[in-house]
Amino acid sequence: MIKLHPTQAQLVEFAEGTLSPAMSLVVAAHCDMCQHCQEKLEVINTQLAESSLVYDVSEQELPGGYSEMLSRITSLPASHIDVPAQQHGIIELDGKTFKLPRALHRYVSKTGNWSHLVGKLWQAPVDLGDMGRANFIYMEKGGRVPEHTHKGNEITLVLDGEFSDGISHYDTGDFMIMTEDHVHAPESNASEGCLVFSIVDQPLHFTSGLARLLNPFSQLFF
Ligand SMILES: [Zn+2]
Repeated sequence: MIKLHPTQAQLVEFAEGTLSPAMSLVVAAHCDMCQHCQEKLEVINTQLAESSLVYDVSEQELPGGYSEMLSRITSLPASHIDVPAQQHGIIELDGKTFKLPRALHRYVSKTGNWSHLVGKLWQAPVDLGDMGRANFIYMEKGGRVPEHTHKGNEITLVLDGEFSDGISHYDTGDFMIMTEDHVHAPESNASEGCLVFSIVDQPLHFTSGLARLLNPFSQLFF
């Protein structure tokens, strides 16, 4: 069950189109998975439409009218390139298949090969173009990332399974932002493991004094 949602302020900024593109992508993917936030967005969009009307933004000025504008805001632009193998929004790892939320479908074709990191961790980079880079990270049961903090923000969405990190327990659909104030050590004990989608703006900063020994993790954005 989803416990962690974007804040009301983040949903409003998402609807207004003022959230950063990377954050918008993860919020959109969360909303694909979360009925609760979809309903909140509908209310926000209605309010935004009403307040815009106060400023006399007439429907005629907007190509396609209001409903189309709102749908443009609430769903990032769809890719116009058909990629047959990936058009169903499915990624595969080691015989397992994962159905992605709609907002991430177009990035299946931008996803690089999985690398098997130390332990029971897998990572596949995702090229987001101007938005930078994201990663799909899969933790097998018992997979664990050494304790670390972040220099920037780490935005994570749980796509399948669940994990814990010493701060909380996260379930499928949960949305969270880790900052430099968080120190955590993600670990999955779910029998099916856990797949997450994660974006950070700067590399991780390991809190252990043995940072050099953790170099293999410096590319692990989680
Ligand atoms: Zn939600």
